Amino acid sequence: ELERLAVYSNKKAKTKDGIAIEVVGNIGDIDDLEAVLVNGGEGIGLFRTEFLYMNRAEIPSEEEQFEVYKKVAEKMEKNRVVIRTLDIGADKEVPYLDLPKEMNPFLGYRGIRLCLDKTDIFKSQLRAILRASKFGNLSVMFPMISSLDEVKQAKNIFNEVKMELDNESLEYNENIEIGIMVETPAAVMIADNLAEEVDFFSIGTNDLIQYTLAVDRTNKKIADLYSAYHPAILRLIKKIIDEGHKAGIWVGMCGEAAGDELLLPFLLGAGLDEFSMSALSIPKIKESLEKWSKKDAEKEMENILQLKTTREVKNYLQKAKR
Ligand code: PEP
Ligand code: MG
Repeated sequence: ELERLAVYSNKKAKTKDGIAIEVVGNIGDIDDLEAVLVNGGEGIGLFRTEFLYMNRAEIPSEEEQFEVYKKVAEKMEKNRVVIRTLDIGADKEVPYLDLPKEMNPFLGYRGIRLCLDKTDIFKSQLRAILRASKFGNLSVMFPMISSLDEVKQAKNIFNEVKMELDNESLEYNENIEIGIMVETPAAVMIADNLAEEVDFFSIGTNDLIQYTLAVDRTNKKIADLYSAYHPAILRLIKKIIDEGHKAGIWVGMCGEAAGDELLLPFLLGAGLDEFSMSALSIPKIKESLEKWSKKDAEKEMENILQLKTTREVKNYLQKAKR
């Protein structure tokens, strides 16, 4: 099996009918890069930068972050690297920030909410990303968006940082792409408005499932209720892709569902442009892609959207698997 999949480390991801699809990797730090490259990842669809802030005694300096982002950019050369800004809070704890204990941390002070409040931290990260942007193909992505205002505020701060760099004569890629995670039901419902503000969407199914189904993603007791196959989730995914495409932007997915072989015909049929996953899933997703033409996948997607329960969807996907 491993030998059969090894060919995909140097083979571009294509559908059966020859359409190129981006299959890229998720990383948490620079040490994860090698595995993505070895497994044939054609870029990085999600760099979870919060891990740079965790398990240490103090906040990483701008310089320290710059060095990391620069290394990743250089290593990936022309290939796109999506750097997600700090997404701490909830299950990702950073003790030295002295954040108050919360009753519902997943619904609390986290992600972009924290960054828009602690703008010093946010700005220092944005400076580091921008400065590193001239060493490769970097994009920036904001997590946990649930309103248009948050996107506008984040973009304003980003533009302020650009102006500061201009004043200091520090170089950066002026055309750097900006994207958002679509991982709250609110963001899905206003996706048309959000799409006008950004260059891309990346669907975060890990959180989207927990917020839509009201199922804590870390609670084992209700783990059987947590499923990407729930018809509500499939309809949301379809809507996100449609709204993105209507506005002319590309739509990726960096939640675990992107690496799920069973879901592949649905996601391909719905028009997903980029699949981002942990390194080990990359070869098998590339292999599955080669078995599906876009047209066949579209037909499956239409059928799957007619199904009414999680179980029906799962059974259908298992039978459809090639
Ligand atoms: C997600 O929510 O799907 C996601 C990719 O982000 P994280 O798992 O880091 O919350
Ligand atoms: Mg998330």
